Amino acid sequence: MKDHRMTNRLDAITSIETFIIDIPREVPYLGPLREGESVNAKGYLVRKGNRSIYPASDLSVVIKITGESGKVGWGETYGIAAPEAVKAIIDNLLAPVMLGRDPSDAAVIHEDLYDLMRVRGFFGGYYLDALAGLDIACWDLFGQVTGLSVTQLLGGKRHDRLPAYVSGLPRATLKERCDLAVEWVGKGFKAIKFAAAVSDDGVVAEMAALREAVGDGIHLMVDLHWKFEASEAIRLIRKLEPYDLYFAEAPCQPEDIEGQTRVARGIGVPLALGEEWRTTYEYRPRFEARAMGIIQPEIGHTGITEFARIGVMAQAFHTNIIPHASISLGLFMAASLVSTAALQRVPYHEYQHSVFDRNLAFTDGVMGCADGYYTLPEGPGIGVRPNDSIFNYIRKV
Ligand code: MG
Repeated sequence: MKDHRMTNRLDAITSIETFIIDIPREVPYLGPLREGESVNAKGYLVRKGNRSIYPASDLSVVIKITGESGKVGWGETYGIAAPEAVKAIIDNLLAPVMLGRDPSDAAVIHEDLYDLMRVRGFFGGYYLDALAGLDIACWDLFGQVTGLSVTQLLGGKRHDRLPAYVSGLPRATLKERCDLAVEWVGKGFKAIKFAAAVSDDGVVAEMAALREAVGDGIHLMVDLHWKFEASEAIRLIRKLEPYDLYFAEAPCQPEDIEGQTRVARGIGVPLALGEEWRTTYEYRPRFEARAMGIIQPEIGHTGITEFARIGVMAQAFHTNIIPHASISLGLFMAASLVSTAALQRVPYHEYQHSVFDRNLAFTDGVMGCADGYYTLPEGPGIGVRPNDSIFNYIRKV
C-alpha cells in the first residue's frame, strides 16, 4: 500500500462494481392493480392515474467502490425503470475514468464526470442517476477513510433525528386508506401524504374523508402527480385548503415552470416540487421564479454533492426542504438522512414505509423510523453497510 501522506492523497480508487438488485413485492408500489392495469412481460405496469411506468418488483442499482486502502464505499442510485441503462453507463463509461482518483475529491470528481457529457446535452436522466450513485459511494469511501460521517464532511450536524411523514396509503378503497391513516397516527406519526393518482372517489372527497378520520392536528398533504393544468390545479387545491392541507405536491407537468409559478402564487398553502430534478441547474430557474415553497430533492437522483448544493440554495431562497424518499434498499436513504442532518429548514423527511421498513433487513447499522421520527445512521460515511442478504437478489444482466 502506498503512503498517501507523501502526496496528500487519502486513498485511490482501485475498483468499481455495480449490482442490479431486484426484490419481489406482494403489492405493487402505489397499491393493488386497478382496472385496465396489468404487469407486462418485462415486469412493468403503467398506472392509469398518472400515466407513469412502475416495476412490479423493487429495483435498485448498488455501487461498490474499493480504495487502495482496502476500504469500501457503498452507493446506490435510482433503479426504478431500466436499471440496466445506469449499470452500462457506470461500467462502460464512468468507472474506468474514476480509477486512481482520490475519494476525498468527491465533489470535484462529480463535476468532472458531469463535464464529460454536458456539451452533448446529458443534463439529467439516466446519466445523472449514474453520477448520483457513484457520488454517494465516493463520499462514503471518503468517510470510511477519514472516520468521519457525511454529515461532518458537509459541515456539521444540525439534527439528531428527523421528523418523518408517512408517504402513501397503499390500500384499494378509501375506507381502507382512512383506516391505514388512523393506524399511522396511532403509531405516533403526525403527517401523512395521499396520492391523487389513486384517489378514485376524487381528490376532495379523499381529503375530506382523511381529515375526518385522523382529526385535527395531523398534517395532511397531497401528491397531485403532475396531472393538472395550472388553473385546474389552483381551483382544486383551494378546495382542499378548508381541510387544512399542509402542502400540495407536483400539480403540473415537470417542465412547466410558468404553470408551477402560477400555482404557487394562486394557492394559500406551500407548493412542494422537485423529486424529478437532479441538479442546481434545474432547481435554479424555479427558485428564481419563486415556483415553490418546499423542495423535495431525491438523493437517488442528485447524489450527495448536488443534494447539498441544492439544500444550500434552498436556504438562500428561504425555502423549506422535505427530501423525497424513493425505492431504496436503504443505502441512498441513509445518504439522504445523513446529508439532510447538515441542512437547515427541514420540517420533515419523506418515509416510504412499504419499502423502508422491509429493506432494513438488507443493511447493518443504526437506522430506523418509529414514533414519527427517523433515527439517523451513525458512524463513518453514510453510516450503514449492505449485508450479504442483499446479494441474494442480484439480477443477472
Ligand atoms: Mg411525489
